[in-house]
Amino acid sequence: MTLRNTPPTAELQALDAAHHMHPFTANTALGKKGARIITHAEGVRLTDSDGAELIDGMAGLWCVNIGYGRHELAEAAARQMRELPYYNTFFQTTHVPALQLAAKLAELAPGDLNHVFFAGSGSEANDTNIRMVRQYWALKGQPERRTIIARHNGYHGSTMGGGSLGGMAGMHAQGGLPIPGIVHIDQPYWYGEGGDMTPADFGLARARQLEEKIIELGAENVAAFIAEPVQGAGGVIIPPETYWPEIQRIVDKYGILLIADEVITGFGRTGYWFGSQSYGIRPHIMTIAKGLSSGYQPIGGSIICDEVAQTIGQDEFNHGYTYSGHPVAAAVALENLRILQEEDIIDRVRTHTAPHLAQAWGSLADHPLVGEAVSRGMMASLALTPDKASRARFAADAGTVGYICREYSFGNNLVMRHVGDRMIIAPPLVISAADIDELVIRARKTLDQTLDHLH
Ligand code: PLP
Repeated sequence: MTLRNTPPTAELQALDAAHHMHPFTANTALGKKGARIITHAEGVRLTDSDGAELIDGMAGLWCVNIGYGRHELAEAAARQMRELPYYNTFFQTTHVPALQLAAKLAELAPGDLNHVFFAGSGSEANDTNIRMVRQYWALKGQPERRTIIARHNGYHGSTMGGGSLGGMAGMHAQGGLPIPGIVHIDQPYWYGEGGDMTPADFGLARARQLEEKIIELGAENVAAFIAEPVQGAGGVIIPPETYWPEIQRIVDKYGILLIADEVITGFGRTGYWFGSQSYGIRPHIMTIAKGLSSGYQPIGGSIICDEVAQTIGQDEFNHGYTYSGHPVAAAVALENLRILQEEDIIDRVRTHTAPHLAQAWGSLADHPLVGEAVSRGMMASLALTPDKASRARFAADAGTVGYICREYSFGNNLVMRHVGDRMIIAPPLVISAADIDELVIRARKTLDQTLDHLH
């Protein structure tokens, strides 16, 4: 569908290339190959400015959990804009959408995660977390506990704090990251790094790196460990089942805080409200964003346990954002949570949609290019390999085969993303069984074309 009165694609692309700097893009390349312009979306399908219809295998950026086109959210936004388009939550003021959303999140979150500090995004929320855990330990009389342990190839956002917590080498290479007081241990990526170990042994070994790092630094200097329950942007890396129980044991033993970054895994992505529930872990803080509003409005935050919140509350926490708890974003998030809950979307993911995806996606494992085809809930990945038996990587130019595959995927009207030579998907949670099957048919065709291309 081309929108009426919209200039032709080439004209829009030229304007875009001239003035719009895109994230994570070599922008001068846009002058040669213009950006794809998305004009409309409904359910799990996107329409571009040339009228092509694509299955959105990535739910935008892992966020459109309830799918596109839910008018209830537009109406919630319009209602709130008419009533109170903006007010802040600083200086002992509040408004109804922010307080109701905080209360709703406290109800949904496990254990005693009963307090919410709002931000505009996942990155901002993780910046909040850095300051909050350090301030927590300062108020506990242990100001030396400042170091935060994170993981290589983890992703926690793009601000100075979020990018530092993340373990993305390409990000650290630019702009002086990481900031001081953040260190990284290895990821639980058995397929890529497990060698001859069993997944179970490897999961334990990688978890025990946390203990080794705590001992090396001195537990009295360690504030927290942060990790995604399932690494998303790192390539949908699903940890061995032994990993999280061992992490929980170590966190408990040394009394450090556990921050679960649930920006992707929250709000149903794993078939539970939060990925932490899927793995049985007990974080002190959870980072949230994305699925909180299904991406219809920018909003993020931290859900904080009683003990940390009460300690922080003893003093003024000199921190906050103009848009912390923005009323329109909060109203939209509330409506999104209502839909997730009343339509039983998350239960359906756990009992039907995710098992169907696991079976359909898993069938790609027989393809000659595929070393593994795995999923957890509604996030899934393929490892592309030149040799299935040895789990080998493609030589030179890391990322090239994945990039080629992604381009064929677009050509087949399927949005799949690549991380190096891993192909990843995380579709809207409301995707039907028929659309999962169609997605997998397009993915297989894409793999066939990529294989032909290599020969
Ligand atoms: N944390 C995780 C696990 C993420 O996947 C992301 C974004 O992809 C972020 C944090 C950053 O969120 P935002 O892009 O909203 O700042």
